[in-house]
Amino acid sequence: MGHNHQVIVSKFGGSSMKDASAIERSANIANLRGSSIVVVSATYGTTNQLIELAKKAKNKTWAECESLIKEIVDKHRAIAKDLKVSEQTYQHIEELLEELETLARGINFLKDAPLKAMDRMQSLGERLSSPLMAEALSKKQSTKVENFDVRLVMRTNDDFGRGIPDIKEIKNLCQSHLLAAKIGDCVYVTQGFVGSTVDGETTTLGRGGSDYSAALLAEGLGADLLEIWTDVAGIATTDPRICPQALPIGEITFQEAAELAIFGAKILHPTTLSPVQRMAIPVFVGSSYEPDAPGTWIRSQSEHQPLVRAMALRKDQALLTLTTPKMLNNYGFLAKIFTLFEKHKVSIDAITTSEISVAVTVEGETLNNEELFNELDEVCSVQTERDLSLVSLIGNNINHTPGLAQQIFTGLDDDNEKINVRMICLGASRHNFCLVVKDDQAPEAIRRLHNTFIERSL
Ligand code: ADP
Ligand code: ASP
Ligand code: MG
Repeated sequence: MGHNHQVIVSKFGGSSMKDASAIERSANIANLRGSSIVVVSATYGTTNQLIELAKKAKNKTWAECESLIKEIVDKHRAIAKDLKVSEQTYQHIEELLEELETLARGINFLKDAPLKAMDRMQSLGERLSSPLMAEALSKKQSTKVENFDVRLVMRTNDDFGRGIPDIKEIKNLCQSHLLAAKIGDCVYVTQGFVGSTVDGETTTLGRGGSDYSAALLAEGLGADLLEIWTDVAGIATTDPRICPQALPIGEITFQEAAELAIFGAKILHPTTLSPVQRMAIPVFVGSSYEPDAPGTWIRSQSEHQPLVRAMALRKDQALLTLTTPKMLNNYGFLAKIFTLFEKHKVSIDAITTSEISVAVTVEGETLNNEELFNELDEVCSVQTERDLSLVSLIGNNINHTPGLAQQIFTGLDDDNEKINVRMICLGASRHNFCLVVKDDQAPEAIRRLHNTFIERSL
């Protein structure tokens, strides 16, 4: 391979790994594009099944686990057979399926599924799908293809369930283990989502984390391009499942796409963009079902900078209103409560304050964190509201556009069904305006705002 060899990291999500024909289609894309590293998700639905299996093993009898194990085993054996994999790969798959059963038995025996066991269980999804992709790809090209265990490079801390990557170490390990891909001597197929602690214990990066894995590997290798292949032809102006009028976006900046991901657009895992943004590696998002469709390019700059480029929805949020009569002229209150949120690793997304109170949104599941609430009770009174959604408008110059708030409220207004806006956040970001509404009114809020800001400005 010459010196001009482009280093491309290509990630294929679960729907692109659904069955033998989806895997073949994805392998074709990797081959035609000249991918250097192919990062795969588990086959479609498998991560959910593995989590369900662990829960069943913990709470139910062994007999009740067996049919689910059989489903997972049969699915992978069938794909291996359809792809006509080598005897060696078939053996490897069988060993992984044995590990799956052993783990489930262990959980069932102890009636306990600690996060460490959950991570090991979930890692099997990607560890099973990657040898299948490696086989499909090696049949299509002459360059050597190797199924690579990502745990050799994807170093994380030991926060099982959501391991935090060690960026520097990952870079070092990528440089020492994956150099053959960089110079074009070998194509590595590897697992998204999975990582390892320094002691060699298996971790995961959190649900949807394969996008993040691919971006970390792209950063680690200093890739020229990151490709995210999914089931829609790029990023749209909003989730097409909520609003069928959603339109494809040809180009978007890192900052806007990061806001979209953080504020709920499932198409990218929220932290995907930070590694590639650090190194200004362009990202392409496309559909493995329509590889020739234009897709979306994410870059540092975009020529066109619309006021509202896209909108996102994040469900299952809770609003906490924290009040202290002492806040009047009392500094230090915010510091105290933020220290508690930090201690409990709870992240706050939207916030507003008045003289004696502060309102913050958090993930709905935070309401189960009794310790946090006990500690908050010691410093303030806490009022909670649940079943809320964050609806965000993402674009440019949002905090410097006169009259935008009025346009938003007019757009939301409809006499037949009033949408009650519980809170707004405007001013902190050039790229984001967000409002909090009831979960059951959020999709309609998105449709009305999409109509106002996207469809009408066509
Ligand atoms: P994968 O399995 O490939 O990782 P995901 O299901 O995680 O795929 O992400 C793709 C899905 O993201 C799409 O099917 C779509 O429903 C959803 N989605 C949410 N917001 C958007 C958006 N703004 N543009 C496109 N798709 C979106
Ligand atoms: N398989 C994992 C999940 O379903 C990771 C991913 O696909 O991104 O969450
Ligand atoms: Mg995903």
